[in-house]
Amino acid sequence: MSGPDGGSAPQFSLELGPDLREMRDWVHAFAADVIRPAAAEFDEREETPWPVIEEAAKIGLYSLDFFSHQWLEPSGLGIPVTFEELFWGDAGIGLSIAGTGLAAVSVVGTGTNEQIGEWLPQMFGEPGDVKLAAFCSSEPDAGSDVSAIRTRAVYHEATDEWELTGTKTWATNGGIADVHVVVASVEPELGSRGQATFIVPPGTPGLSQGQKFRKHGIRASHTAEVVLDGVRVPGRCLVGGKDRLEERLARVRGGGRSGGQAAMKTFEASRPGVGAMAVGVGRAAVEYARDYSRERVQFGRQIGQNQAVAFMLADMQAAVDAARLLVWRAAWMARNGVSFTNAEGSMSKLVAAETAVRVTEQAIQVLGGNGYTRDYPVERWHRDAKIFTIFEGTSEIQRMIIGRAVTGLDVR
Ligand SMILES: Cc1cc2nc3c(=O)[nH]c(=O)nc-3n(C[C@H](O)[C@H](O)[C@H](O)COP(=O)(O)OP(=O)(O)OC[C@H]3O[C@@H](n4cnc5c(N)ncnc54)[C@H](O)[C@@H]3O)c2cc1C
Repeated sequence: MSGPDGGSAPQFSLELGPDLREMRDWVHAFAADVIRPAAAEFDEREETPWPVIEEAAKIGLYSLDFFSHQWLEPSGLGIPVTFEELFWGDAGIGLSIAGTGLAAVSVVGTGTNEQIGEWLPQMFGEPGDVKLAAFCSSEPDAGSDVSAIRTRAVYHEATDEWELTGTKTWATNGGIADVHVVVASVEPELGSRGQATFIVPPGTPGLSQGQKFRKHGIRASHTAEVVLDGVRVPGRCLVGGKDRLEERLARVRGGGRSGGQAAMKTFEASRPGVGAMAVGVGRAAVEYARDYSRERVQFGRQIGQNQAVAFMLADMQAAVDAARLLVWRAAWMARNGVSFTNAEGSMSKLVAAETAVRVTEQAIQVLGGNGYTRDYPVERWHRDAKIFTIFEGTSEIQRMIIGRAVTGLDVR
């Protein structure tokens, strides 16, 4: 395209390219035809939706190939578009499909090419024999405060093995995953800067599932404690390798930077994906409430003809669209190496999460008594939406990160 000076001007467009549109429609069809019809049942049963994951694997949606393709999509919108559609279908089932991807990213971010090549295929498995992966960072006394992690990793030189001991909690797919990715402390006195990430291969003795949590929402997604009792993993399971860890620890001991900033950047980059999940749930609620407002008649007119209802729908639609724009901006920035000067990743997750909670609550209001029953999906979407203000950094933690970025002060 020619600019005013005859040179090439940078283009700006929010239109998805043909590949992304095709992918979106394909994922949407799966969400509408397979995920939605199964959602209420798996929510009630609080069980992992294995048949749906299997179906997704069969068509290539639950696969390393599909996820890596979307992660590498040049605009950065491959993952947001995928997650919005999956979670539009159902958040619990969506997380059962997307959870492995989140664990995989923790290895892709800092792992070596050999580790990526060895472990990522094992995280997804194959159609007919699907596998899951879990990312285990949180502990009973280390939620928002990741520096308080107590799980210890001790190196045994003689056998070139790491021994992991501790209790992880809230792990999505914890205990039912084949591959567990575990954050542990190598040098506790260094706090979060003395931590490292380890891969626990399938079937490793000493790893077991603790209690499975019975939850308010996303009940099709399995969340459990993971107990690590003297779990021994080969040296090659230290993500990034021993040389890199030793260099980093030496830098920290010498008072230098730990590369912790890089870890924060990885987190920031994954947040738009979580924001997109929330956008999917919010959009589902707006669409459902909109359709209901056209059908339901009271006082001889459609309830949507009342400004009170139409204005609520207007606010809901505007809020979901605004949240999506923040998600797309952050995803585009992350993919194109533009730094997050104002914590744009956190902004997208914060706004999308709070929006999903608000609009799902408003959708219940639009449906009146029906909205409050399990015969309609909006009460489930409201329960599901709440998770987005809690996991992957609570809304308060996101505000703290944004507050620090905006003020440049050590906001606590
Ligand atoms: C369904 C589900 C799935 C999850 N999946 C995973 C997973 O796969 N892997 C994993 O590692 N973890 C996972 N988590 C854990 C999740 O990331 C944590 O629950 C979250 O980080 C919050 O930690 P916490 O629950 O200990 O709350 P706390 O940290 O105890 O926070 C309690 C409250 O205090 C506030 N608070 C804490 N510190 C501050 C502060 N400095 N300033 C202001 N407010 C503050 C919080 O915002 C929150 O409102 C999952 C959690 C759930 C519920």
